[in-house]
Amino acid sequence: MDLDAIYHWGVLLEFALALIGFPLLFWITVPYGGRHTSARWGPTIPSRVAWFLMEAPAPIFILWGYAQGANPAEPASLVLLTAFLVHYFGRTLFYPLQMRSTGKRTPVLSALAALGVNILNGTLNGLALGSIGSRGAAWLEDPRFWLGAAIFLAGAAVNYQADGILRSLRKPGETGYRIPTGGLYRWISSPNYLGEIVQWGGWAIATYSGAGLAFFLLTVANLVPRARSNQQWYHANFPDYPADRRALIPGVW
Ligand code: NDP
Repeated sequence: MDLDAIYHWGVLLEFALALIGFPLLFWITVPYGGRHTSARWGPTIPSRVAWFLMEAPAPIFILWGYAQGANPAEPASLVLLTAFLVHYFGRTLFYPLQMRSTGKRTPVLSALAALGVNILNGTLNGLALGSIGSRGAAWLEDPRFWLGAAIFLAGAAVNYQADGILRSLRKPGETGYRIPTGGLYRWISSPNYLGEIVQWGGWAIATYSGAGLAFFLLTVANLVPRARSNQQWYHANFPDYPADRRALIPGVW
């Protein structure tokens, strides 16, 4: 199969996964984290190891896909590739090392599912970036590039701050849960997910590619239902949980 066909069918597959996954994940909460974990999903591995294994394929496969492109040396492609790599090196190495989840475990099944998605998504976005260079240096001056880049950075900042607040709720070695405060937690329960969604929305605009859009839709399909699960979990576990705090969109939902 040639690379164009891989890209075409791969993007369609991601659209299909997002379309099917969105309603399905309102019923099934994938147990990759401590609070949603489930013994029914079979053998488990330490969550820290799972995060490394799940995320590592994304930077590896984007580099492979990128190298196949016709114009990989163009500056716009390089800027976008760097943004993706910085995010995923953080997620693959620093996030698992920093997380305070001593003793928490993740089912091998859910880790494998995430690993598969990251192989597919890394490859497709790499193929897209490798050919974005054909738009030439003019893409760096295109408003879509700048708007997308600004949205990407704003989302990443929200995500980073929110994950940091969660981390600070535990001292090293602690595994319990508290009600998070500060930042966007004042209004919503999962600002880390909101930031992630906004970030990849920016990516879709900045890359202006099918792969970028598919990644954004996949992120929405994954994190919107999970934000509802988190919201329900907070209300079930904290009777004093702020009643006016929404799940994902301040003042709305
Ligand atoms: P969660 O918010 O469920 O958990 C993040 C970390 O904080 C975990 O270590 C968790 O511990 C801990 N934690 C959560 N709530 C509390 C609390 N109330 N008190 C104390 N500690 C708490 O995030 P996810 O694990 O679902 O996701 C982690 C990151 O990965 C996020 O930034 C998310 O946006 C991103 N992500 C991106 C996806 C995408 O599609 N692009 C998909 C999934 C995640 P424990 O594990 O023990 O519960």
